[in-house]
Amino acid sequence: MPSSLTASGDTRRFLDMARQLLGESRVFATDVDQAAYSDQMGFDLAAHRPAGAVAARSVEEIQTLLAAATQTGVSLWPISRGKNFGYGGTAPVQAGAVILDLSQMKQIVEINEELGYCVVEPGVGFYDLYDELERRGHPLWMSVPGNAWGSVAGNALERGVGPQPYGDHAAQICGMEVVLADGTVVRTGAGAMQDNPAWHTTRNSYGPGWDQIFCQSNYGIVTRIGLWLMPAPPATMSLSLQMPDPDDIEKGIAMFAPLRLRGLIDHDAAWVSYIGIASYAGTRASYWEGDGLLPESEGAKIRQRLDIGWWNAEINLYGPEEVIAAKARLIDAAAREAGITPSGDWRVWHQGDPFELSKAGIPGTRGMSMIDWYGGRGGHIGFSPIMPSDARQAADQFRRTRALYEEHGVDYYGAFGVGGRQTVAVNEILYDRDSEDHRRRVTALFEALIRDTHAAGFGEYRTHIDFMDQVAATFDFNNHAIGTFNNRIKDVLDPAGIIAPGKQGIWPARLR
Ligand code: ADP
Repeated sequence: MPSSLTASGDTRRFLDMARQLLGESRVFATDVDQAAYSDQMGFDLAAHRPAGAVAARSVEEIQTLLAAATQTGVSLWPISRGKNFGYGGTAPVQAGAVILDLSQMKQIVEINEELGYCVVEPGVGFYDLYDELERRGHPLWMSVPGNAWGSVAGNALERGVGPQPYGDHAAQICGMEVVLADGTVVRTGAGAMQDNPAWHTTRNSYGPGWDQIFCQSNYGIVTRIGLWLMPAPPATMSLSLQMPDPDDIEKGIAMFAPLRLRGLIDHDAAWVSYIGIASYAGTRASYWEGDGLLPESEGAKIRQRLDIGWWNAEINLYGPEEVIAAKARLIDAAAREAGITPSGDWRVWHQGDPFELSKAGIPGTRGMSMIDWYGGRGGHIGFSPIMPSDARQAADQFRRTRALYEEHGVDYYGAFGVGGRQTVAVNEILYDRDSEDHRRRVTALFEALIRDTHAAGFGEYRTHIDFMDQVAATFDFNNHAIGTFNNRIKDVLDPAGIIAPGKQGIWPARLR
């Protein structure tokens, strides 16, 4: 173990206290453990190498661990299932922190079929929730992210997205239980009243609403979360669309945004560039063996071979068939007007047909095969700016982003998730993490993207642990007043600065 990573005396004392509380089997602090809790897709594992991990199973254990951390001055980095790949996985911002692994808190506390919500502990994965809903005959449908091996709670807390109607996961949060750094257990919203049955049904309770301050922050440990789920619709319809040219993105966004705003498209539909789709189906070398950027002529062969466009999207509709059939006709008309030709007809599913043919959120992990694109031990990092659903601005963002990818010798892969008011671009940067050359170019590309996007007036909605300070620094109104505000809240809620220092660029006083 390199000396810079040696657990300090305090860390050793903390881990001993944790062993007494949890037993040997739930304290992980060997070299192998430290490696296992590092960012499995990162370049610089040492910079974020944790001192170990402790796995709590209850609120009481979390309270005792927080007290021990305060006593010993150790930082705790909470994770739910730790699958936040592309943004840091299980790893903390600061090397030497101890991971507070909540993946063993796996209770599905409640599923309310009538009122359309679930209440889960942090360790409940998308697969766990899916299995339980399946056991009940799918009365409620989930929204799942592209790679669904993570946790329902952790993904919502990070503002993960899915291509379903309830796909803005943080927006579905309603009522939480949170353990603060001093061990106080708080229930938000209506849950602040003992046994109030409205806890997970309304965000409008008495006084300020606090759910969102625990998203992308380091203000508390979330031990229970209420999330709204969609009632099963009687039918779904889906339509695939393709566009042949990179510059078509402008008309693609211009077509989707007003339909979404007016409720005619039921979810944030995404335009995905062809390399994304190609990367799920094969490695780069399986298409072309050359070096350097994938030439456009080879890209054209890939698109032909896979029968896909430069941009590809799927629109899904959910509801009674007479309702969604009417929406489908309006969407057809909008596509004709935009000059976008659907690839095929609408596919219709009804209750009673095989479930996997529906447009329900069904967990899968196939998307992760994208990391094999360049060969070697693959990795990806997400650059995720958010902007208005203004087709011109979003198209400009695409052109500049693609140009920067090319300047840095990286094949462009991006997706634009089009909402009614906002569009999220998730740009995946794929690499071989054992290549020093990739590391240099990818880091330079990422930093260039932060600068360029900031200059255009936008910010990322989420970022990798390597870049949390840099992205925080782009939120610069009134001399970075929001950063100062965030730090002030941190100092009040966590004066010893033990929970996830540096997350989202929020630092406790002792480390500023
Ligand atoms: P997932 O497994 O769903 O991908 P993670 O467990 O990796 O999600 O969580 C992503 C990030 O969200 C973590 O790095 C942490 O910063 C934050 N987080 C996750 N779970 C909690 C929690 N229960 N309380 C507070 N923060 C959390």
